[in-house]
Amino acid sequence: MNKSNEILIIGGGIIGLSIAIELQLRGAKVTVISRNFQQIATNAAAGMLAPQAEAIPPGKMLDLCLKSRALYPEWVKKIESISGLPTGYWPCGILTPVYAVKDRKNYALPNLNYQWLNQVAIHQYQPGLSPEVIGGWFYSQDGQVDSRYLYQSMIAAAKELKIEIQAGFVTEIIRQKGKIQSLKTSIGELEAEHYVLATGAWSQELLPIPVFPTKGQMLSLKIPSDVSTKNLPLQQVLFGNQTYIVPRKDGRIIIGATCENIGFVDGNTAAGIQQLLGNAIRLYPVLRNYKILEFWWGFRPNTPDEMPILGKSNYDNLTLATGHYRNGILLAPVTGILIADLIWNDQYNPLLKAFNYSRFVEVEIINN
Ligand SMILES: Cc1cc2nc3c(=O)[nH]c(=O)nc-3n(C[C@H](O)[C@H](O)[C@H](O)COP(=O)(O)OP(=O)(O)OC[C@H]3O[C@@H](n4cnc5c(N)ncnc54)[C@H](O)[C@@H]3O)c2cc1C
Repeated sequence: MNKSNEILIIGGGIIGLSIAIELQLRGAKVTVISRNFQQIATNAAAGMLAPQAEAIPPGKMLDLCLKSRALYPEWVKKIESISGLPTGYWPCGILTPVYAVKDRKNYALPNLNYQWLNQVAIHQYQPGLSPEVIGGWFYSQDGQVDSRYLYQSMIAAAKELKIEIQAGFVTEIIRQKGKIQSLKTSIGELEAEHYVLATGAWSQELLPIPVFPTKGQMLSLKIPSDVSTKNLPLQQVLFGNQTYIVPRKDGRIIIGATCENIGFVDGNTAAGIQQLLGNAIRLYPVLRNYKILEFWWGFRPNTPDEMPILGKSNYDNLTLATGHYRNGILLAPVTGILIADLIWNDQYNPLLKAFNYSRFVEVEIINN
């Protein structure tokens, strides 16, 4: 592409920012326009980096997730060194306690670390679990990042790199002759040489691509004040039956999450919070007396096959990076790097093929 021209990214969540940072580092002049920097999936996420605990089956999606997990240590180091702010990255491992043998599923893949802890071992290793727990897998390579700290660090890095960040709402993408002409926005009409759509759950408002919201409710608790954060009762994530419990180093405990396909319906509900607390207290009864800190919710950008939509679109100058569903925090490094390589260096990683939007497009042949 003509490297003197601008790139405009629509959407300033983790995906838009990861692409913006990678492009700017390669020498591009990037602008990000975003409607909102608070009520976004990125700020709602638990931040688990959990391709193994999520039991993603072998295939391209697992390949992409594992590649991103492997990129994480260097990637957060880069963001932190630019911004000077921590990201809360913690490769703490994830334990998946189960109540029944039938739930003991795991994909035995080479080069991946996993270990089954039997009933005696798991209770020894993690005191305080429900007596119903009969064992669990421990995935030492899975981990977590504090998605809110990470996002603040990325915003600061973007500013440091002189990426232009505009608060504004794109109302229409003007298309002509197979190209994007301009964007109609709440802050006037904007033009660029190349555009990236990274609008998460709201993507379908701008283009007919199959991304829809799956709401997730969450809450956080605080460890009692007489327990030192140097001696946290949980030293790894617990990923149980319809619940996960994510300890943060500062003493917060994040509990998630509901999965509701009800459109963009705001707010926490009594039933949602009851479900979260019921499942979490059943798994780790110690939580019963912990104080509640906060409730919140967010909209995961879901797709029909639960895989992201990445890469070229049917417009020459528009690249898609959306639909990351449950794994957008995990997939931020690989998305940023592969999409920046594609746009700026014309470097196409074959891994992108499985994620092209064309998998949802059928060409109808009409015989007259
Ligand atoms: C409850 C919950 C828990 C989760 N837990 C995890 C987890 O543990 N691990 C993990 O990897 N992932 C997790 N996720 C998923 C992850 O949060 C998402 O996949 C990821 O944040 C998606 O990032 P995004 O940048 O695509 O979308 P968002 O963060 O939602 O950002 C989209 C941006 O686009 C902007 N926008 C939308 N429309 C327009 C428009 N027309 N004009 C201008 N701007 C627009 C929005 O304002 C927003 O800033 C979780 C999600 C939820 C909701």
